[in-house]
Amino acid sequence: MSITETIDIRFPKTLREALRLQANANTRGKLLAGGTDLMVQWASGVPVPERATSLWDLPGLCEIEIRDDDILVGAGVTHAFLVEAKPIHRHLPALIAAARTVGAAQIQARGTLGGNAANASPAGDTAPALLVTGGSVLLASLAGTREVPLDRFWTGYRQIDARPDEIILAFRLPKKGTAKERFRKIGTRKAQAISKVMAASRIRIRNGVIVSAAIALGSIAPTPVRLADVETFLAGKKLTPRLINEAEKLAQETVKPIADIRSSAEYRRWVSGRLVRDALENL
Ligand SMILES: Cc1cc2nc3c(=O)[nH]c(=O)nc-3n(C[C@H](O)[C@H](O)[C@H](O)COP(=O)(O)OP(=O)(O)OC[C@H]3O[C@@H](n4cnc5c(N)ncnc54)[C@H](O)[C@@H]3O)c2cc1C
Repeated sequence: MSITETIDIRFPKTLREALRLQANANTRGKLLAGGTDLMVQWASGVPVPERATSLWDLPGLCEIEIRDDDILVGAGVTHAFLVEAKPIHRHLPALIAAARTVGAAQIQARGTLGGNAANASPAGDTAPALLVTGGSVLLASLAGTREVPLDRFWTGYRQIDARPDEIILAFRLPKKGTAKERFRKIGTRKAQAISKVMAASRIRIRNGVIVSAAIALGSIAPTPVRLADVETFLAGKKLTPRLINEAEKLAQETVKPIADIRSSAEYRRWVSGRLVRDALENL
């Protein structure tokens, strides 16, 4: 018998129906989007739930809406859909670059942005790219909707600010405007690699002076992190080779990297600085 045959999977056809199921502890199921994280977890010994609520058939979750200043990306949008969504590429290039690096084509076709964020792995590729937008997560429950800033969404290792009765509806992501974005993923291979360190940045520069900088790293701490010290250091300064050297050093001094089977803390510290250098040299 396959894993999914042992689970009572509900397939609500409307958001209201899904929210109603999730509102009641007796009908609530583990939320299931593309299943690319959950199926692996269940196969490797994580307890299989009695019930699951599939989000796959909910049309509202799979939409992208381009608005004046920001873009609403539905939680059910797949990585492949992001890669194909050409009209948003110039507004969110780091996110698109991140989506392109998730697994391989099969995983991108099934894995969703909401699943990547809610799974809350420190190595989730899209998290740093989401963070540098300064955007937020829209959550819904029968009680209503609420918006959580992305920099407060990941609260700890594999933990997010969402209640069991809530479903992530979408991400509200400000457009980059005149800023430049960059995404780099460092792993052992170019494809199908879990990252050792990854970085996303959104930096605005005018007449050679950095107006604002948002830089985020993944895979170096229990949650994705913004490099607040480096961002503050850079703001208002002229971009020079010396500034780049100093920012690289500051990043290496201020990150608090973890060590695990994929990489040592020393390597992650060194690469963090190099990725900050890369983001600045890209300007
Ligand atoms: C071979 C392979 C390679 C992979 N490579 C990468 C990689 O390179 N980079 C990377 O980042 N990831 C990778 N992954 C992990 C995975 O594919 C992604 O994290 C994917 O985006 C998960 O999305 P999903 O829709 O499949 O999530 P699911 O497995 O359906 O769900 C994941 C978690 O999110 C929750 N969830 C899903 N949707 C919602 C919602 N709308 N609201 C609230 N909670 C929700 C679920 O309850 C669950 O806890 C890989 C996986 C595999 C199997």
